[in-house]
Amino acid sequence: MVEKSLQSEAQWLKGVGPKMAPGLAKLGLRTVGDVLYHLPRRYEDRRNIPAIRTIRPGEYVTVRGTIRNVNARPISGGRVILKVVVGDETGTVSLSWFNQPWIGRKLEALKGQEILAYGLAKESEYGCEINSPEYEVIEDEEDAEDFARIVPVYPLTEGVPQKVLRKAVRNAVENYLGYVVDPLPPKLLKEEGLRDLKWCLKEIHQPTSEANRLEARKRLVFEEFFYLQTALAMKRAETHQELGIAFPVAALLQGGVTALEHSGVAGPDRKAVTPEPRNAAVIKKAKHASHLFEAEQEALRADEPLWEQIHRMLPFTLTGAQKRVIEEIWADMALPHPMNRLVQGDVGAGKTAVAACAMLAAVRSGYQTALMVPTEILAEQHFANLHRLFEPLGIDVVLLVGKQNSKERKRALAMTETGEAKVAVGTHALIQEGVKFDRLGLAVIDEQHRFGVLQRAALREKGMGNPDVLVMTATPIPRTLTMTLYGDLDLSVIDELPPGRKPIKTHHKPPIDRESVYEGVKKLVVEGRQAYFVCPMVSESEKMVTQAAVDLHYRLENGAFSDLRIGLLHGQMKPRDKEETMNRFRAHDLDILVATTVIEVGVDVPNASVMVIEDANRFGLSQLHQLRGRVGRGEYQSFCILIADARSADAKARMDIMRETSDGFKIAEADLQIRGPGEMAGTAQSGNGDYKIADLVQDGKLLEVARQAAMRLIETDPALKKPENRMVLEKVKERPGQVAVVTVS
Ligand code: ADP
Ligand code: MG
Repeated sequence: MVEKSLQSEAQWLKGVGPKMAPGLAKLGLRTVGDVLYHLPRRYEDRRNIPAIRTIRPGEYVTVRGTIRNVNARPISGGRVILKVVVGDETGTVSLSWFNQPWIGRKLEALKGQEILAYGLAKESEYGCEINSPEYEVIEDEEDAEDFARIVPVYPLTEGVPQKVLRKAVRNAVENYLGYVVDPLPPKLLKEEGLRDLKWCLKEIHQPTSEANRLEARKRLVFEEFFYLQTALAMKRAETHQELGIAFPVAALLQGGVTALEHSGVAGPDRKAVTPEPRNAAVIKKAKHASHLFEAEQEALRADEPLWEQIHRMLPFTLTGAQKRVIEEIWADMALPHPMNRLVQGDVGAGKTAVAACAMLAAVRSGYQTALMVPTEILAEQHFANLHRLFEPLGIDVVLLVGKQNSKERKRALAMTETGEAKVAVGTHALIQEGVKFDRLGLAVIDEQHRFGVLQRAALREKGMGNPDVLVMTATPIPRTLTMTLYGDLDLSVIDELPPGRKPIKTHHKPPIDRESVYEGVKKLVVEGRQAYFVCPMVSESEKMVTQAAVDLHYRLENGAFSDLRIGLLHGQMKPRDKEETMNRFRAHDLDILVATTVIEVGVDVPNASVMVIEDANRFGLSQLHQLRGRVGRGEYQSFCILIADARSADAKARMDIMRETSDGFKIAEADLQIRGPGEMAGTAQSGNGDYKIADLVQDGKLLEVARQAAMRLIETDPALKKPENRMVLEKVKERPGQVAVVTVS
């Protein structure tokens, strides 16, 4: 016999054997250790066995009684309905199974014996009935005791019955728990008030009380968060150690020229990057430029202290929060290590201006900078904005998107490669092959939720050595998800909206009120405002969504708004047409824009003050919030009308949340509760909803605790070299999802 260990094959466990082993393997349970860590999905409390007479429909119940009668009734298609009547001294209940005749044969032979059954009681013609109950025939009292406890319910796969798994786990707990070694150092357990692993594994599988089960769960959840947070903390610490560009921000704040001599990239394997002295650069540029005068003026302006340039560049005063975040970013840029920072701010918080300030510092340090966004419309808008801001400062901006004509593209590529363009704005076209930068020092990624971790890495690859990376999320995601998805990034939060914004008034209207909604819109348009109509995501297919937009456009143009100028915008239009439509809307050549969710992200037209969202129920809450953020951007009172047939309580609750709050973070929390983390985070991200036991919705506090503990640990032992932390290191390396977060930035 093989020596026992957690590595022993699962087939040695009682009730498994070579026959069940492949089924267990499908669940990823190959060793005894795997089985021990296969945690219950939920529990059934079978401790109270009520008298059968007292059972009420709608309750999960355990019944105990004698098998009185077994009746298999054939129905159409050769199928069979089985009813088994079980009774105690107070009454009877029937257990029923659909098309499982073998159960009938088995129970028929056991008539007169006692049986225990568990399931949901339902009303039937002859009193209470339990459909497809779990059951056990009582052979001795021990069986009964076993059945009548808090019973774990495990995740299953085809061909592995619950009973088999329960037995296997029970056997593993009884015979192998002694081999379990707790990876968490005792000191940590003590500090965090957590129980040791053996105790917890026993209680999670065989809870002796609800309180103990919760205590066991708490430790296991903590542990699960802890390894991931430790991985992220290590990654962060590592980034903080790597060599990167030290932007001479302090000097720029004084005035540019002298600063440039100090700029350079630390690190052995990079070409010397100290830029040419400013004069030489100016002369070189002057040779190309037809206007020597302008070139000189640029140089002069570059000497202005950074804040003064910014005051000149921006048409408004920055909010306190924007200033604080800009300073956090600059401080990070000044360090000789790569920046890896997340800027979080609600829709309309003014992230673009913050990015522009970071970009200006990079450019004035002699580097190029790139801004990557998820859609072409947004790229074009950012390009137009940044061009407007930067051009007066003598900084060239280029646009790189997928479907540009080849002349424009060539020019943009050439300017990026030579370094003439200091700022490149684009979609993921920016990270394609063939795009080369001369000296990319800062990469900014807007609306990060649409980009995967890998794309972040790809953009970084284009840079010099280790460029700084700034990620901006517009969809506020709950803090729990931030910590999981972006835990390797440092965080800055813009927690203040620009002044003078009037809160958007949100109304929920049933479809029957559509006409009056249209009248309201018309009144606003007559007053000189503009409106968005967003048509629903009728299906996953972009074609069908487009069709819905085309239909709505047609209906409005030929109906309520026949005398107004109405544009149409959807994802399947040519980039040029999209751009033209957007430009016309911006220029107020259009009163109404009918659009799909292509306008969800970042589009900014301050005169648009009303948004009508058709079939609002089809959108997630965060998406509605994001859409709503397209209005309320100017001085006018803005409105968002959600047209939805919200009859179910759930749908109504969702509309109420939208009406009552404009705080993106609160909405995100609600969304997380409704939709779950996996869907919110999108798919390809590592480290999202794939926890075994932890639940991002209910365990947010514990996540924070685990994160703090992980950071403390990494502070004292950055590479986990101390013997007491050796097993933590192993665990951190174990899960592939975590490694992805650890190795890709
Ligand atoms: P988001 O954070 O959603 O990307 P934007 O950067 O698009 O927000 O900014 C939203 C709007 O607010 C823009 O019209 C922008 O010009 C304006 N804005 C940004 N910051 C300020 C400010 N400090 N004062 C006034 N308006 C501002
Ligand atoms: Mg934005």
